[in-house]
Amino acid sequence: MDLRPSPEQRQIRETVAAFVDEEVIPVADEIDRTDEFPADLVEQMAELGLMGMPFPERYGGAGVDYHSYAIALEELSRGSGGLGTIVAAHVSLAANAIYEFGDDRQRERYLTPLAEGADVGAFALSEAGAGSDVPAMETTARRDDEGYVIDGSKLWISNGSVADTVIVFAKTDPDAGSRGISAFVVRPAEDDGFHVEGTEEKLGDKGCPTAELRFDGLWIPAERRLGEEGEGFVQALEILNGGRITIAARGVGIARAAFEAAREYAREREQFGRPIGEFQAIKHKLADMDTKIQAARLLMHRAADRKIHGEEYVTAAAQAKLYASEVSREVAEEGIQIHGGYGYTKDFPAERFYRDAKLNEIYEGTSEILRNTIGDRLLEP
Ligand SMILES: Cc1cc2nc3c(=O)[nH]c(=O)nc-3n(C[C@H](O)[C@H](O)[C@H](O)COP(=O)(O)OP(=O)(O)OC[C@H]3O[C@@H](n4cnc5c(N)ncnc54)[C@H](O)[C@@H]3O)c2cc1C
Repeated sequence: MDLRPSPEQRQIRETVAAFVDEEVIPVADEIDRTDEFPADLVEQMAELGLMGMPFPERYGGAGVDYHSYAIALEELSRGSGGLGTIVAAHVSLAANAIYEFGDDRQRERYLTPLAEGADVGAFALSEAGAGSDVPAMETTARRDDEGYVIDGSKLWISNGSVADTVIVFAKTDPDAGSRGISAFVVRPAEDDGFHVEGTEEKLGDKGCPTAELRFDGLWIPAERRLGEEGEGFVQALEILNGGRITIAARGVGIARAAFEAAREYAREREQFGRPIGEFQAIKHKLADMDTKIQAARLLMHRAADRKIHGEEYVTAAAQAKLYASEVSREVAEEGIQIHGGYGYTKDFPAERFYRDAKLNEIYEGTSEILRNTIGDRLLEP
């Protein structure tokens, strides 16, 4: 694995970093306060080609590799954790489901507007009683002559209330456990029976609406099914594996924001007649924070490298996501400590980084589930 970024990867970082510094950071506190979906930023990201980075140009994507995509996601998350989730759910989950498992016609029709950023995507897997335990889902898709009738509800769906295209997982054979799940492309504006029940009031991740969705006799034509009946569970796991690399990127990005703010504060804040950064206790915190960030980023690129080369990357992606998630929370927590009392107030963004970081340990596989995944694979004969 070449640890040096290619000229293209360097240029992508510079472009996205400039966008984040100029357009995202100035409004990040406002997004956090209002919790409004930043449609104008999404439009700008579409213009920059950030809404379909890893997909081929013939489907409206930017055709860049997974390292570049992770680098961009890291930079966006450095500016706003909510923006990181908006893009990760749209690209890694929704659009990627169509790219990986759709046929050519489905890709042209549904992936292209997503990759171009004209449409927003969401990925609806979780339910009230089925989070870690995906096969416990109760949403059904009953076959009729020409299509499917979907009934049920989904919880915690990022972008769910603003999406033009929602990938919905439902049971086509309720008695077949994980083998009875199938994936469908649902279009809220066209399909009767799609309802947004509401959005969650969350600790952080503001700006990305987390919606509860209900499907009430929602009929879709059979051509909206992705792949074959019964393949949905395996498809979901594959999509989440790739998604975990980008949640690792979100972790690295938020940790960097927390670290950079703490470093600046340690240089400026004086106590006992000198900058607090001169106290060894603070200096060592900064040293540990940056070391963890560097390690998390290497794990992220290691997983991306294995994915790019077609190697098995389930363990690598789980390790990258697990480690980067915990690092983001730890670094953000130390960031508050370095800010002292000010870190506990809304006067500084340190507390926002902490609230945004915590989510990394929960979605796209909790840290406990990821430890199970890694441990199981380590013990395989
Ligand atoms: C802000 C946000 C955005 C989200 N976005 C999406 C989205 O876009 N699409 C989507 O489909 N879902 C989304 N989710 C759902 C998310 O993936 C789930 O919340 C997550 O998988 C955990 O499921 P749960 O909340 O039901 O927790 P549970 O599965 O009930 O877990 C509760 C606790 O028990 C632990 N636990 C459960 N099973 C085991 C086990 N076998 N071994 C050890 N410990 C275990 C968990 O680790 C956790 O600590 C989102 C969630 C949030 C909070």
